Amino acid sequence: MYFSKAFIPILKNNPTEAKIKSHKLMLRTGMIKQSSAGIYSWLPLGFKIMKKIEKIVREEQNKIGAQEILMPTIQSSEIWKESGRYDDYGDEMLRIKDRQNREMLYGPTNEELITDIFRSNIKSYKSLPQLLYHIQWKFRDELRPRFGIMRCREFYMKDAYSFDINDDEALYSYNKFFLSYLRTFKRLTLTAIPMAADTGPIGGNLSHEFIILAETGESKIFTDKRIFDVEYDQTTVEKKSLEDLRKKYEFFYSVTDDKFDKQEFEKKVSSENRLITKGIEVGHIFYFGDKYSKPLNASVDLPGGKKDFVKMGSYGVGVSRLVGAIIEAKYNEKDEIMKWPLSVAPYEVAIIPMITKNETSNLKKAEKIYKILNSKKIDTILDDTDENFSSKMKKFNLLGIPYQIIIGKKSDGDLFEFKEIGKDPENLSIDQIAKLINNQKEQI
Ligand code: ATP
Ligand code: MG
Repeated sequence: MYFSKAFIPILKNNPTEAKIKSHKLMLRTGMIKQSSAGIYSWLPLGFKIMKKIEKIVREEQNKIGAQEILMPTIQSSEIWKESGRYDDYGDEMLRIKDRQNREMLYGPTNEELITDIFRSNIKSYKSLPQLLYHIQWKFRDELRPRFGIMRCREFYMKDAYSFDINDDEALYSYNKFFLSYLRTFKRLTLTAIPMAADTGPIGGNLSHEFIILAETGESKIFTDKRIFDVEYDQTTVEKKSLEDLRKKYEFFYSVTDDKFDKQEFEKKVSSENRLITKGIEVGHIFYFGDKYSKPLNASVDLPGGKKDFVKMGSYGVGVSRLVGAIIEAKYNEKDEIMKWPLSVAPYEVAIIPMITKNETSNLKKAEKIYKILNSKKIDTILDDTDENFSSKMKKFNLLGIPYQIIIGKKSDGDLFEFKEIGKDPENLSIDQIAKLINNQKEQI
C-alpha cells in the first residue's frame, strides 16, 4: 500500500474526548470512528488489526476441535422466553419489533439460540461432544458505554458453546477452552491470567475470567504474584494433563472483585506475594450444566436407553476489545510510541524514504524494494508522501508498524537502514530483511 492512497486519517493531536490511551490512539491514528454512543465504524487500519486477531482466535478454536458456525445478530424473543431470560436480561437487551409486530432482539449472547440449534439436530450421546463457535457482533445497551471500543454497545465477540453427556466430559471441554485461551492470548503476546469469577447473568457454577493487567482496566483483581510464573505444556490436549493445567492456576489465589474475600486472601497469600491491581477482561468461560438445556428441553439418549439434559458451557472472547487491550499493554503514551505485535500488525514493515522536491531517487529505491517485499508476501506500506522526515518518523512511531526501513543518508548501496521499533537500527540487505521478517512470522 502507498501511504498517499491509504485511508488512514491521522489526527495532529490527541482527541480531547478520549480518557484512556487505547481510545486516544485509536482515534488519533484513524482506526475507528464513532457513529453514535458506544457504536463505532472500523476504518481500514483498525479493521485490519481486528481481522488478524480474529484469525488467531479462530485458529486456536479450530485446534481444539471446535467447529465454526454463524448465527444471526437478530433473534426472536420466543427462545428467550423459554429460558426465562427475556425478562431477566433487563435494559441491556435491545428489543425491537418487526412489521408483523413480533418481538425481536439484537443478540447480547447466544446460549438460547445455540441450544435451539442443538436440540433440533442432535438426539444421541453418540454425537457428543459438540464444540461450536461463531464470531459475530453483539449488542448490549450498556448503561455507561465508555473508553471507546473497550466498553461499547455494539462489539465483536467470539462465543463458543460445548455440549456433553455428563459433568466429567463437560469439564474436559471446559479445560480445552481454558488451554485454547491461554494459547490465543500468548500468540497475541499478552499475559492473560485466568481468575475464578462470578457467573453473573449467564449463570452456572464454574467460571474463569481471563484478565490482562492494566491500570485503566475496569476489573479490580486480587492475586498471588506467583501465578505469572505458571508454566504449562502447550501441546497436549489429553484429559488428565488439561485438568492438571487448570489446577496449577487454581492453586494460586486469584479473583476479581465479586469473589474477593479479604480473610481468605490474607490467609492464602503471604504479604510479599499479594498483588491488588486492575485489569481488562478479555475472555470469560462458564460451565453451567443444564441451566439452559433443561428449560429448553435439549436432551440426548444415553447409552442405557434413558434420556438426560445435555451439559453445556459457554466461552467468550472480546475480539474487538482485544484491539484496545493490546494498545493498553503496548503503547508508550509518554513518548508516543506504539509497537503492534507482528501477529496482528496492520502492516508488517514500513518503507520510509526521505523525499524532497529535488531528490526523488530515494523514492525510486523504495519502490524497488517495495515490489521485492510484496513478492515475498510481506505486508508493506510505503510512505510516498513528501512530508518532512521527522514528522514521518513521528507518524510511524504512532502507527506502530513493528519494522521500518529508512531510506536516506544511512542507506548505502544494497544495504538499508532497518529498524525494529524499540531496538537499535542496523544495515541489512533486502534479502536479509525479508528473511528476518518471514522467520519471525513463522513463529507466530
Ligand atoms: P464485562 O464484565 O466487561 O461487562 P461481561 O462479563 O458482561 O463483560 P461476557 O458476557 O463474559 O462479558 O462476554 C465475553 C467477552 O466479551 C468479555 O470477556 C469481554 O472481553 C467482551 N465484552 C463484553 N462486554 C463488552 C462490551 N460492552 N464492549 C466490548 N467488549 C465486551
Ligand atoms: Mg464476563
